[in-house]
Amino acid sequence: MRKKTIDIITLGCSKNLVDSEQLMRQLNEAGYNVTHDAEKPSGEIAVINTCGFIGDAKEESINMILEFAEAKEEGNLEKLFVMGCLSERYLKELSVEIPQVDKYYGKFSWKELLKDLGNAYHEELHIERTLTTPQHYAYLKISEGCDRKCSYCAIPIITGKHVSRPMEEIIDEVKYLVANGVKEFQVIAQELTYYGVDLYKRQMLPELIERISDVPGVEWIRLHYAYPAHFPTDLFRVMRERDNVCKYMDIALQHISDNMLERMRRHVTKEDTYQLIEQFRKEVPGIHLRTTLMVGHPGETEADFEELKEFVRKARFDRMGAFAYSEEEGTYAAEHYEDSISQEIKQARLDELMDIQQGISAELSAAKVGQQLKVIIDRIEGDYYIGRTEFDSPEVDPEVLISMDNHKLVIGNFYQVVIINSDDFDLFGEVV
Ligand code: SF4
Repeated sequence: MRKKTIDIITLGCSKNLVDSEQLMRQLNEAGYNVTHDAEKPSGEIAVINTCGFIGDAKEESINMILEFAEAKEEGNLEKLFVMGCLSERYLKELSVEIPQVDKYYGKFSWKELLKDLGNAYHEELHIERTLTTPQHYAYLKISEGCDRKCSYCAIPIITGKHVSRPMEEIIDEVKYLVANGVKEFQVIAQELTYYGVDLYKRQMLPELIERISDVPGVEWIRLHYAYPAHFPTDLFRVMRERDNVCKYMDIALQHISDNMLERMRRHVTKEDTYQLIEQFRKEVPGIHLRTTLMVGHPGETEADFEELKEFVRKARFDRMGAFAYSEEEGTYAAEHYEDSISQEIKQARLDELMDIQQGISAELSAAKVGQQLKVIIDRIEGDYYIGRTEFDSPEVDPEVLISMDNHKLVIGNFYQVVIINSDDFDLFGEVV
């Protein structure tokens, strides 16, 4: 008998995506046809993997659930399930508000879904995944949760305390993924630098990255989401010495004024932050830094914001993202501070900060013209092959566009490319 088709819809971050990919592998094993992020309901069953990070993300997840609930009411869907961070956080409320959903699961209880569909969870497949990314790269989640106490952040409430995955298990997963064609690993965690503290009683990120780097076939390793306090500085050596560790670091700094860093409970000062950036650039020549900043946190004065702008101008981050503060119930900030900055001011500050960065990004991209860089090809779009250098993470960073006119390139392969032009964001290149 034909097994049913299941649509998996993933919202939120790459950590959620990894959960979806694990679920998809299990469903494939059970014989289902599985599609990912279909534009509209196309299967008999749908599973929405939600995000509960901040206001906008929650709204997006709720709208998606409502859309599928409507499809179910119209008879276009037999069953609808919801999992992930939003449903972990608001399971009871959602069950009452949107009862069309057959069952809500928490972030870590999606294995029950298999049972509810009449299938077993295959423990022996726990490191396997059905990749939704191009086959040459994958996200690699090394831990769950976070032990930090940043004032504004609901992640520890949703995902609980930091839990590192055993190193052996991660290495087995890397080997499995390499055997399936993966060359590039986006190493992810809520907070990378804490890796190992719970399990091995010390920070083990440098050692873990060395072990991953030793696996034959691993061509690029990229690190996402580090925390600046107590940074494991041996990582500088690993990044410097290992060719397959990208000279790239995604480190969320959030703010620079001492007033704000203290209110945000970040356990670093302005001086520490400037020093860390300097150390990165000195110890890992050529490193590209990505950061995330926040505007409009309670207590942010005009003077604090001026300091933040000055920081962005001085630090000249290669890549930068910014958020407007969103009050999240249960967080320290929600309980101790008043969300006193208006939405208009938050938005104006956000726009101003992004404007400054846009000019910097454009200048840094223009400075790459004439350079020869190693590029991996991700896909074809229009008349171009679209690739990335070691300084670019998928989805968020600039891309390298190579005209298809004179080249025949293979997706997932590396090429030496000379950069011939740039615009505000992307680069244009020719294969050498
Ligand atoms: S380190 Fe990151 S995930 Fe952890 S509480 Fe702070 S902002 Fe949230």
